[in-house]
Amino acid sequence: MSDDLNFSDYDFTKIPFDRLVRVGQRSLLGKDLFCVSWLLGRFCNYRCTYCWPYGRSDKKDHRPTELVLSTLDEIKRQARDRGFNSFHFSFSGGEPTLHPGYLKILHHYNDDIKNCNYQSVHMTTNLSAGIGWFKKYVVATKDLHRVSITASFHKEFANQEQFRDKLIFLQENKVQTTINMVMVPERFELLWEDALFFHEAGLNVTLKPQSNKTATKIVEGYTEGQLDRLQQGMPQRDYTTARLKKKKQAPPLMQVEFIDDKGNPWYMDQAERFNCYDFNNFKGWECSAGYRSIIIREPDGSIKRSYSCNDEPLGNIETGFNLFPTPKLCMTPHCVSSADSKIPKRKLGTKLPLWPGDKTFEAR
Ligand code: SF4
Repeated sequence: MSDDLNFSDYDFTKIPFDRLVRVGQRSLLGKDLFCVSWLLGRFCNYRCTYCWPYGRSDKKDHRPTELVLSTLDEIKRQARDRGFNSFHFSFSGGEPTLHPGYLKILHHYNDDIKNCNYQSVHMTTNLSAGIGWFKKYVVATKDLHRVSITASFHKEFANQEQFRDKLIFLQENKVQTTINMVMVPERFELLWEDALFFHEAGLNVTLKPQSNKTATKIVEGYTEGQLDRLQQGMPQRDYTTARLKKKKQAPPLMQVEFIDDKGNPWYMDQAERFNCYDFNNFKGWECSAGYRSIIIREPDGSIKRSYSCNDEPLGNIETGFNLFPTPKLCMTPHCVSSADSKIPKRKLGTKLPLWPGDKTFEAR
């Protein structure tokens, strides 16, 4: 791929998915970054018709704040033992803003910044909390290197103007925002209009295909034209800027990097897009999930290497856990969550590091 690549013309359909040998989020490939994806509870105040039955609950199921804080400290201790002292915590639910101790948890995380090389936080939210709550959120996360939000727009419940205005407030306070829209086939064109409304307001929009019940495939019912639009998506705002400036480097919003079997780099804006290309089978690859990343899942409190993995859990939030001593082979046929697929992994035998200074491939 040439150096003077014009990213405005970047065509994801040209990526040679069957020849890729390393995959990962760029921030994880290039830093001593330990990544935590933490589902704080299933409790949600919305009841979207397309939400999976296990995706939400009417019952308040949050763990005590003190247990969350001590688990957070233990994660950092074990990660530091493995040489990682940069952290990315990603909170979701249910609806994470409904955890009663959420702002306290964020203050605790924020206040450890002086002991870390880098810290960032992400939240996936339905954005139903009021603007007053988001003002407190900005204060609670003020020292972090990066704060980002994926806001899911649920048309059945959310007011479009208020949704837009909260995101503009967050952007003005240096919170990176992206709107996720699940493009249900039956309402595709209406949702497309909504996506354009947000796009015109200067907001990033990621179009997500609706997944089947097992989350292994996208549902039937999309026309070819709709699938094309899902695959190409809407230009991300930085991406558009890149066109104007003709940047020679991939812009930061190209979050994912691939290397093919000839050593060429390829890029994608969001791992959410992998499923549109049926690119989710890493069985037999060496994956660093469980070594430099974990997920915490409710309602059972299990701590696992990642959401999709068939491996035994690493432990439980109530009884403790142990990270893997080294990256391990993937034993799972479908790596379906974007939180999982972006964790750096390489085809077995590939002599490329998964983080700076990684020499674990030499041991094989
Ligand atoms: S399913 Fe798990 S082990 Fe396999 S590639 Fe995905 S995150 Fe890694």
